[in-house]
Amino acid sequence: MKALRRFTVRAHLPQRLAALERLSINLRWSWDKPTQDLFESIDPELWKLVDGDPVAILGQVSPARLEALAGDDAFVHRLEELAAELDNYLTRPLWYQQLGADRQGGKDPVLPNGIAYFSMEFGVAEVLPNYSGGLGILAGDHLKSASDLGLPLIAVGLYYRSGYFRQSLSADGWQHENYPSLDAQGLPLRLLTDASGEAVLISLALPDGAQLYARIWVAQVGRIPLLLLDSDIPENDHDLRSVTDRLYGGDQDHRIKQEILAGIGGVRAIRAFTEIEGLPAPEVFHMNEGHAGFLGTERIRELIEAGLDFDTALTVVRSSTVFTTHTPVPAGIDRFPVEMVERYFGPDPGGVGSRLLPGVPLERILAFGAEDDATKFNMAHMGLRLAQRANGVSLLHGRVSREMFNDLWPGFDPAEVPIGSITNGVHAPTWAAPQWLELGRELIGSEDLSSLQEPETWERLHEVDPGHLWWIRSQLREALVHDVRDRLHRSWLERGAAEAELGWIATAFDPNVLTIGFARRVPTYKRLTLMLRDPDRLTKLLLDKERPLQLIVAGKSHPADEGGKALIQQVVRFADRAEVRHRIAFLPDYDMSMARTLYHGCDVWLNNPLRPLEACGTSGMKSALNGGLNLSIRDGWWDEWFDGENGWEIPTADGLADENRRDDLEAAALYDLLERAVAPKFYDRDERGVPTRWVEMVRHTLQVLGPKVLASRMVRDYTQNYYLPAARALRQSIEPGASGDAEHAMAFGAARELAEYRQRVEKVWPQIRILEVDSSGLPDTPLLGSELTLTARVCLEGLRPDEVTVQAVLGRVDAGDALVDPVTLPMTHVGAAEGGQDVFTASTPLPVTGPVGYTVRVLPHHRLLAGDNEWGLVALAG
Ligand SMILES: *Cc1c(COP(=O)(O)O)cnc(C)c1O
Repeated sequence: MKALRRFTVRAHLPQRLAALERLSINLRWSWDKPTQDLFESIDPELWKLVDGDPVAILGQVSPARLEALAGDDAFVHRLEELAAELDNYLTRPLWYQQLGADRQGGKDPVLPNGIAYFSMEFGVAEVLPNYSGGLGILAGDHLKSASDLGLPLIAVGLYYRSGYFRQSLSADGWQHENYPSLDAQGLPLRLLTDASGEAVLISLALPDGAQLYARIWVAQVGRIPLLLLDSDIPENDHDLRSVTDRLYGGDQDHRIKQEILAGIGGVRAIRAFTEIEGLPAPEVFHMNEGHAGFLGTERIRELIEAGLDFDTALTVVRSSTVFTTHTPVPAGIDRFPVEMVERYFGPDPGGVGSRLLPGVPLERILAFGAEDDATKFNMAHMGLRLAQRANGVSLLHGRVSREMFNDLWPGFDPAEVPIGSITNGVHAPTWAAPQWLELGRELIGSEDLSSLQEPETWERLHEVDPGHLWWIRSQLREALVHDVRDRLHRSWLERGAAEAELGWIATAFDPNVLTIGFARRVPTYKRLTLMLRDPDRLTKLLLDKERPLQLIVAGKSHPADEGGKALIQQVVRFADRAEVRHRIAFLPDYDMSMARTLYHGCDVWLNNPLRPLEACGTSGMKSALNGGLNLSIRDGWWDEWFDGENGWEIPTADGLADENRRDDLEAAALYDLLERAVAPKFYDRDERGVPTRWVEMVRHTLQVLGPKVLASRMVRDYTQNYYLPAARALRQSIEPGASGDAEHAMAFGAARELAEYRQRVEKVWPQIRILEVDSSGLPDTPLLGSELTLTARVCLEGLRPDEVTVQAVLGRVDAGDALVDPVTLPMTHVGAAEGGQDVFTASTPLPVTGPVGYTVRVLPHHRLLAGDNEWGLVALAG
């Protein structure tokens, strides 16, 4: 008989062991090996059975064993040490506090006193399966690094009762999904309660009088609270209880409910949390992808309720919102039918005003998500329109995003679209093997790993003997081989094999063979099966007598993606063949714990996406942190940081229209590299058996990529380049306006002023004209460096000259007279001409040789804009 619900009943912890509770509840244990070792020592057998889960081991250990430990002075002493270490970690001043101290007395002491970070998934640890892939793991790493750096960040997402699915395989290699139901009591979560001990509920008004309630679970990720909203409570009608049932399941209507809950409910949860905990309200709001974009509409509602008009409220919200886009494919963007948005955000039939967001006009909300297709509401467009600052997740992805969203900034070349980039990073203490972290501590001479950010720290690897580096790599490969055998064995049993048929697994895979990993989700663009393009050639490489390879493949396909499941089946069928099954395997149920073992143990990390569809990719970074060498198409981060010696580039045939031919060419290049470059280097050994040239590549990889791929680098970049400017913009928007009249003298005067300016500018902009542009000063034969003077007469339609920027744009022109990589020069206002026109001028030495052209343009200008291009308004001469 199957139980309807499950929960965990725990033994009382003896007084002397009380600190175990604290250590188990704070997810910091997930990146702190000493704490894991302590929990393991409670009962090593049980620790294995519960897959290394501290809350679970406390739930299952016998009271007798706990009593015995309470009498074990050595254990209690170690426990107290680690508890004190945790307290110290949670309270001592870190990078952010230092940054604050450095800025004290400086002219710009603006540090946000709170940052709210929204994401639909968070991969913090495998015990909390609230993630499907890279986006969630990235969010988890963001929180951990924010904690290590001392950022005052609060994260918000949803609590999925069934998380993401667990994957298994049928006998013929087809993916099966099952959704284990989570038991919140068995997880490192606490319920947010008010002063009277009642669960705090947030509520949202849905169409037809329905009300959606959610309670709030708090996971503690080091210093960072992660709020997870849960709709599975009796206060909800039956169908609303399932809003947070699972990640990426259900239809569009289900999904919009989830996103409304995450965005609007998320803001309400933060308000409840900060009030109860006595924390300041966050100043900066960061959307990790557009899914939680409705958060901006809720903040507008709050400000309208506080007395602002819509446009001023929008100005304030924009100033303090950061949007990160993660997909370079238009098809990857979340879009809803416009009627659906109307249904949730409009008035009930016969009613007045929005029930969900009183005071916020529906048309204004619809305008945020407008796109080419008038029937669609585009969440990425909403993110971009609600955020004054936006970024992609690698240099290449920033470039691709500027092109992809160019239409929102018409009149600008892609290079000028205001979307920047911050390359993703990974959390070293989570992803680097303990052996490497230990070596790092030895080289640094301290327990404190914060100097991993300094390239000099990694330079010290010069001191390490190649034999030692190789010994670490070999140990990690061996551990991987054992894990692969275990997993293969379990998978075959699950697929219906009999124990007696599985003798071969005991010797499958070899700790001394060059080991290649390929593990990731299975969307088409990642090309799981490119390696099978020429099965005979792959077989030869695997079985080579002198220089064999072994290949470990893993990944989940989206449950609705039959195509992806067919790709998995293709790999499984190939790997099932008796002649290769000891050298290639597909391992089911890729998750964080399998991922770690793979990143630790693989010599080579393979990635062959269709360029440029991999926005960043982070698995290769985790491999690099363990001395794995990347073998990859130059896409995402690898396009940026491949240097010719830290791995290999698979030449891409991107741009080729014939996809089949492209796959052929890229697969052939992959086989060639494996055969001619990778394997020879791995098997070329010195007299001690050490592949010295390989080890030098490992050392070089660690040295050059180590300091770059860190999530701490990423979070510092977000702080300096996005959070600080956003907090500054918010505080400026709150100030009284510059004009000094009564209305602007009150709070938010500056935002009011900017909102009014925007309305004025948008009204007159279509009439702004550049009437005449004259050049003078050039000799008959202009030479490089000859002085050019440009004068333009501009009709500003009532805007003052200091309310615009007039620019000369100058540079080489192509055959079609388009300016290529031009320079822009500000033009100075030199007076008025007849008819209310204004005259602007600029002089410059000619900057380039060859065919040169120029034009003049006008842009809006205001001190509170992040840039003159921010609104996408430009008037061009001619
Ligand atoms: C890092 C990681 C990913 C993301 O890898 P990509 O290279 O971005 O595809 C996915 N799943 C798990 C479990 C990971 O650890």
